[in-house]
Amino acid sequence: MVSSDLFPLNDDIVGQILRFCPNFDTLQAAIHSITREVAYNLVGPALPQALRVVRYPYFDHCTKDSDPFVMAAACPEVSDPLEVINPDKQEMLDENVHVVEKLEDIYSLMVKDRTSTINVLTAEESRRFRRAMYRIMLYCNIFSSYDYPPEQDEQNQRTIIAQRTAILDAYPTDELRQLESALWFLTEIFDICGCHVETYLPEGPAGALDVWEARSRHVIDLHLGVWKDGFIDTPLKNLWSTRKIAPQHSELLSEGILDFVNDLDVICSQCAAPCGVAHYNKPTWCLVPMEDNLLSDNLAENVSIRNYFDEMVRPNFDSPAAVERFIRRLFALRTGPYASWDPTGSYCFPCFMTFVQYHMRVWLLRTVKYGQNLGLVDKGQIPNSDT
Ligand SMILES: [Zn+2]
Repeated sequence: MVSSDLFPLNDDIVGQILRFCPNFDTLQAAIHSITREVAYNLVGPALPQALRVVRYPYFDHCTKDSDPFVMAAACPEVSDPLEVINPDKQEMLDENVHVVEKLEDIYSLMVKDRTSTINVLTAEESRRFRRAMYRIMLYCNIFSSYDYPPEQDEQNQRTIIAQRTAILDAYPTDELRQLESALWFLTEIFDICGCHVETYLPEGPAGALDVWEARSRHVIDLHLGVWKDGFIDTPLKNLWSTRKIAPQHSELLSEGILDFVNDLDVICSQCAAPCGVAHYNKPTWCLVPMEDNLLSDNLAENVSIRNYFDEMVRPNFDSPAAVERFIRRLFALRTGPYASWDPTGSYCFPCFMTFVQYHMRVWLLRTVKYGQNLGLVDKGQIPNSDT
């Protein structure tokens, strides 16, 4: 039996070679080397950052009084290539790779190419994104790993800010910019899912993916007690100031990570406004925030409709696919001034949300009629308006 297409040696032959190791040290070294190569196959060029996340001695080095420089120097990204990756860490690597890959797919759709549901980042763009994401993961793990005093005094806060700043100060400025862009991307995800960013950001990339997949802030148990004020903004601002770098104001999610963005010239199919990267088309319907903005102001003020929406409608948007399906239903209902809207068009956010709010109203009226009164419509039952 052949091990793989890329490694045309019979498994038995490989086994025989290992059996000829003269001692256990040599055998272990061979196994570690193979494990690391498999880890590289799994993680790719961001392996040093991914390994640091799983190896960092969180519980030995992190307390509210720890020396910032000791924390920053612990378990550096450049490590001994023969250091063991034990099964526990292999499992953690696996989980983290899954998170980062999924987030990269969303990033590609949201920031790189809003017409493509396939990840189209180049190899170099992907490396930058993943490196930044693992570094954010490390940062969030470190500062969620220890107990903060219930009442922060100024001295505590100064120490913690110094620790946070020291961890980020290890990175060169261009890679710190990439980290900041990746951070804005996570912020955007939390925003779309209705999560208060300052509260949720310490949950890091894994938390962002969890809320994204469920489109709900209720699916994660928040790390309680983490001091969240300026969680990562404050140390970043400190570093921009120390390094005499002007902070970015545009919050471009692509800055430093992407070499180019596709479809920057798109104009709104309705109002002809230039949309830049933020147009809404079929592939990006899943990016629409299904929160308070779905109800126009006059509907949101009606308590019955508001309750009905919160209790009966919103829980149905429990995945990006469910959001997409619902928007498709709204397009099937299109009427009035929107009758000629093309579902394959690209729309700017204001136009698109006007469309969504208008048809949310149409849909609600039909649904309420269908249920005779609000109490008769079962939870979880969204009538399919296509039919
Ligand atoms: Zn428009």
